[in-house]
Parts: sequence; structure tokens; C-alpha cells
Amino acid sequence: MPDSDAAVRSDESRPGVEAPRAPSVLSTLNDDGSRRWLRPRLSPGRFLLRRRVVAYGLVALFTALPFITINGRPAVLLNIVRREFTFFGVTFLPTDTLLLALFVVSVFVTIFAATALFGRVWCGWACPQTVYLEFLYRPIERLFEGGPGVKARVPLPPAVRKPAKYAVYLVVSVVLANIFLSYFVGVETLAQWVRQSPLEHPTGFLVVAFVTAAMMFDFCFFREQTCIVACPYGRFQSVMLDRNSLIISYDYKRGEPRGKLKKQKARDPETGDVHLKTIAGEQGDCIDCHMCVTTCPTGIDIRNGLQMECIGCAQCIDACDTVMDKVGRDRGLIRYSTQAGIEGGKARIVRPRLFVYGGVLGILSTLFVLTLASKGAADVSLLRGQGLPYVIIDGEVTNEVRVKVVNRTREAASYTITIESPASAHFLGLDGAPSIAVAPGESETVSLRVGAPREAFAEGGAEAVFVVTAGDGFAERVVYRLLGPRGGAPVDDDDDDDDDGDGNGDEEEGS
Ligand code: SF4
Ligand code: SF4
Repeated sequence: MPDSDAAVRSDESRPGVEAPRAPSVLSTLNDDGSRRWLRPRLSPGRFLLRRRVVAYGLVALFTALPFITINGRPAVLLNIVRREFTFFGVTFLPTDTLLLALFVVSVFVTIFAATALFGRVWCGWACPQTVYLEFLYRPIERLFEGGPGVKARVPLPPAVRKPAKYAVYLVVSVVLANIFLSYFVGVETLAQWVRQSPLEHPTGFLVVAFVTAAMMFDFCFFREQTCIVACPYGRFQSVMLDRNSLIISYDYKRGEPRGKLKKQKARDPETGDVHLKTIAGEQGDCIDCHMCVTTCPTGIDIRNGLQMECIGCAQCIDACDTVMDKVGRDRGLIRYSTQAGIEGGKARIVRPRLFVYGGVLGILSTLFVLTLASKGAADVSLLRGQGLPYVIIDGEVTNEVRVKVVNRTREAASYTITIESPASAHFLGLDGAPSIAVAPGESETVSLRVGAPREAFAEGGAEAVFVVTAGDGFAERVVYRLLGPRGGAPVDDDDDDDDDGDGNGDEEEGS
């Protein structure tokens, strides 16, 4: 949204020139409330060329990622059924909530920082909505039906152009929907599914059908309205942008008062030829040709100031630069700038909020890397059993301990649990060391009863060291506090017989 102060402030250097005001009506609505369909004119130029390179690079990346493997795992695989998320060879399991939380918060902070620095660069250059609409679906439309200033290239009778266009849209959408699905099931599974009947994998088929339908709705009908009325990111702009954020701006000081180009006949003093010469005068550089408006994919007039609908696509820059070249004026009447820069002030790229974003990102990234580095081939955690903290049976303190193991490898593994200390501690009711078999990527919990003599306890507890090992060389020592009676001093047989004084000499319960 425009800085409201700037939107009404008079230009003191050029009295009578006012900064433009934003219109209050939605750009895709006619005055009677009906939909205003937009067919933006394509404006070739340096920014369109760069955006094309970026856009087709991103489409290629999106298509290739599911096929790329790192350390034998897909570069990206979001296995929702097993709740495993693989990014560039690292798999996050359901137990990795801290890692996932750090990752998600980092993404949000990165978006905030990027927006404060570069404005809506994501929307105009990298958002899938913009990339697919402007560089896939609209080019297909121009190919079949032409557009403002462009003739249709496919030689078809007019009656079949539109159906042919929609048929191609459908094929493209089905392909994109299948690529989308491969991010969730992997390319091998997808390759199997496409050779089978949909009845053998109805969920996958329904996902592809739904995504295809959603894309057809979005790119055939809803189009720019996704950015204008549906995407929450556009709404966040007003809080994330400041006067020093990079935005696409119309230089109203240079452009106003706008007006059609005035020319008069002039005779060349050397040759004597008569030609048309532009009259310089009170008029600004904007010749009011509307090329920046007709090229805008969201249908706004950038000369009305920064507006929420502007996705930062730079098409108006390319359009206006071409016009400026033709009329012999300097390029940059519309350009990347900052609100402060356009108003004649000095743009400050380095601002306190960037240090805050940078600091927060640094902390989050460090925590993420440290947490990730601490992850081994398995996660082992020891939990207290439910019920009483400890029970004394025949003079021995008994704790229920639940051992949970998460197998982070891609192979099934058997984990053996031993007690390293205290030496007198042992598992009850078992002949040897207990073991627990865990499938790849899964977790299992086993409940064990651990006994230790009262002498091992002081101050109501005893530090025990459990060791969990597996055949692949995995070994993890876990320190765990066994609970027992306070004092822990040896007690005589009489006490052992009836520690809790309840007249029952067999068992004592901790509390
Ligand atoms: S393209 Fe440039 S000259 Fe033409 S109306 Fe827009 S700002 Fe003015
Ligand atoms: S105003 Fe310019 S940069 Fe913004 S959406 Fe329209 S054409 Fe793109």
C-alpha cells in the first residue's frame, strides 16, 4: 500500500505537481461490479528477458527435483503418509518437531527480510502463480488467439482456436499435476501408477484430478485475482515494506504534469528540411501513452503510486523505457527505486530492521545446524513409566522405564539395551539384555522394569547410564535418574519387612 503521506504530498520543487493518489476501486472490477477481463500487452525489454531466464530455470528445476537423488535419497520427497520429509538428502521424521519448527520460522523470517530489502521480488520473479501464468499459460494463449499487438501464430480456424487452447492447457495442467504428485510419492511410484488403472491407486488419481482442476480454474479463469484478492502475502506488504524497500515506482516529479507529446514543424538550419520537433515546455516526461497500464498484468496504473495489486513484474518499466527511447528521453521514468529515493531523499539500504532480521536468522540457522548435527542414526529417549515412581520389592528398588528408539536409517535395525551403571542395576524378568526391533524411519517403545539395591540411592535417586547399541556400530549412552527412597542408607531386615508401615512387608511404593 502506498505511504499515504507520500501519496498526497505536493512536490515543492515543482509547485502544482502532486504525488498521485491510489484509486479506491479494485482493478479487476468494472464500475458496475462485473469482472474486468485483462489481456495485458507483452512488453519486451531487459527485465522481461531476465525474468524469462529465471522463470524457465525455475520450471526446469521444479520438473527435475523429484528425479535428483542425493545420498541415495530424492532431493525432495514429502512423504505425508509416513510423515517423513526429505530435503536435499536429509530426512526429517515426525519426532523432528524442533527442526521443522526452526525451518518454518526461518522461512518466514527470510521472507520478511527479503521483502524489506527487495519488495515484492518474489511475486514478480519467482512465485509459481506468476511463473506459470506469465511464462506458460499466457504464451500458449497468445500462440492460439494472439493478444494486444500480437497475432495468433497457430493457423487454425477462429472457431477452434479457443477449444484448442484449452486442450493444450489441460495437457500442461495434467503434466504439472503429476510432477506435483511426484514430490509426495516419488518418481518410481508415480511411474508405476501412470501405467496402472486409476482404481489401483484412487487417492493418487484424485490428487492429480484435483490439482489439475485447481490449475485450470486458476490459470484459465481466476488468474490475476489470485494475487489481488486471494494471496495473503500481498496483504502483508503494508507491514513488511518501508520507505527504503526496493519497489517499482513512477517518478512523478519527472513525469508530471503528464500530457500528449506536442510537436511543431521545424526547419533544419543546415539542410533546410522540415521535420516535426518535440516542444519542450511545462509538460513532464510522461506522454500519457498508457503503455504502462495496458501491459500491467494486474490492471493497475503505476502512476497512481505504490499499490497492493503491484506484483513487481517490471513490465511497466520495459514498456515505458521503450516509449522513452522512441521520444528521445532518458529511460527510468518508471524504475526500480525506493519511496524515499523517488521523493528525492536518500535511500538507506542498511536499516535497523535488517540487522534484527539478520540476527534472528543467524540464531535460527545456528540452532538448526547444531540440532541437525546432533542427530545420529537413531534417536533414543528414556521416559518414566506410568503410575508410581518406584516400588520396593524384597528390599530392591524397582523403576519402570520406557525406552523409545527412532530408527533414522533406511534399514531395519535391532537395538540392544544394557545398563552401564550402577553396576548393581539390572532388568527384571529378563534373561539377557532386552532388544527392540525398529523398521526404517519408524519408532518403537519398550517398557522395562529396572531393579537396584537401596544402597545405590541417595537423596531420592540414582544416576544410571543406559547404553543402546545396534549392529551398524550405533551406540548411544543415555543418563537417566532412577527414583528411590530418600536417604538410601541400608536398612535392617526389620525395616525391609515393612518399610511403609502398612503392615505389609512385601512391597513399598514411592510417591
Ligand atoms: S508508459 Fe511511460 S510515458 Fe507512457 S503513460 Fe506510462 S509512464 Fe507515461
Ligand atoms: S504496476 Fe508495473 S510492476 Fe506492478 S504489476 Fe503492473 S506492470 Fe507489474
